Amino acid sequence: MAADLYTSLSNEFIVPTNKDIGATARKDGENPCTYLCGNSLGLLSKTSSTLVQEELHAWGTRAVTGHFSHPQNRPWTKCCEPLYPLLGELAGANEIEVACMGTLTNNLHLMMDSFYKPTVTRYKILCEAKAFPSDQYAFTSQALARGLDPATAIIEISPREGEFTLREEDILETIDKEGDSIALVIFSGIQYYTGQWFPIESITKKAHEKGCICGWDLAHAVGNVPLSLHAWNVDFAVWCTYKYVNSGPGGIAGLFIHEKWHETEKPKFAGWWGHELATRFDMPPTFSPIKGAQGFQQSNPSAITVASLLGSLRVFKAAGMMKSVRERSLLLTAALEKMLKASKYFVSPSPQREKETKPGFTIITPSEPSQRGAQLSLLFFPLGSETMRTVFAYLSANGVIGDEREPDVIRLAPAPLYNTLKDCEHAAEILEKALESVA
Ligand SMILES: *Cc1c(COP(=O)(O)O)cnc(C)c1O
Repeated sequence: MAADLYTSLSNEFIVPTNKDIGATARKDGENPCTYLCGNSLGLLSKTSSTLVQEELHAWGTRAVTGHFSHPQNRPWTKCCEPLYPLLGELAGANEIEVACMGTLTNNLHLMMDSFYKPTVTRYKILCEAKAFPSDQYAFTSQALARGLDPATAIIEISPREGEFTLREEDILETIDKEGDSIALVIFSGIQYYTGQWFPIESITKKAHEKGCICGWDLAHAVGNVPLSLHAWNVDFAVWCTYKYVNSGPGGIAGLFIHEKWHETEKPKFAGWWGHELATRFDMPPTFSPIKGAQGFQQSNPSAITVASLLGSLRVFKAAGMMKSVRERSLLLTAALEKMLKASKYFVSPSPQREKETKPGFTIITPSEPSQRGAQLSLLFFPLGSETMRTVFAYLSANGVIGDEREPDVIRLAPAPLYNTLKDCEHAAEILEKALESVA
């Protein structure tokens, strides 16, 4: 197994070269860079590239008739159909519970429109503090749209003093204490900044015990960790597909609505693509939705982004889906963590670090593997200094691609489909030199 980690799980991926990615300090410009940024934008697979080319060809040769007759038998009226079994498998859901549509923030609003139903006594939204900004804007604007004051309608849970991540017991206790006034509990599956994987099943269970709806933003979780949304009894979930799922920038997004809601929760903002396929093109004046999540579709999807996503999902399938992906991910991330902790600049996380004056870093992602996915978030000291930015520039110039999150964090994520142990070793080595250059 150890030897395998030096070979990619899938040879499908096109890794940018050092030269193309702007690694100016590298002499080997034609060599692939060390790409550890699949948490932000996954790489292009050859299958996605081929399928997108096929779609362009279909457009060029079939034009409007491509809606019904397609050279690869993926007529655009039904182009999402091959996705459902694969998306279902990835999300741990039945096909009827998933849809492939729109973008993440759009879908978040759509789901909140349906599932956030404030009453006089039960009107609050419970979420993690410092959620991804788009989610914060969505929560705030949803509260405002219902005539509520976000200052009282939104409860944010923060880590304890001196800690970086949330404790499960604190989340559950808050739901217990405040649940009667909470309409919607909504967290990210994996926190984008800290990399913490929240216990989705136990939070959902506790929310239900208190009569709350529980929804999830799985942007950083899908394609990263195994999910069982149906079995976990999640009410709804939304995600994008361009991070670990590798569908390409702005790729078409996904959503999940648990089967238990399919009878009662009908689409509130209907569009023709949510109408039953059998009669859609008869152009009937009355909306008759597809049963399940796909009834929430509004517009005809971009066939090009759908093809790209289909390619990515086929790559997951060929690699053995989340079972193999997670198995490898656990090994790669643990290996990277071990190398980073061996650095002479590594310091263990503690409240005293606030006052740290020497250049160095700690890891704020939980060290417990069941509480994280692929990503490790490195926090640089002294806080608020130039250390993080200097290190980040050094890494980039040397072809190690992570991403920076202000104020002091760099995220590195070995994506199990294409990263190798060599990528981790190289990143750790360059990071050490980067810190030497600061110190
Ligand atoms: C990446 C990400 C987004 C991005 O939203 P888009 O609508 O796809 O632009 C939103 N929320 C979270 C938690 C994310 O990680």
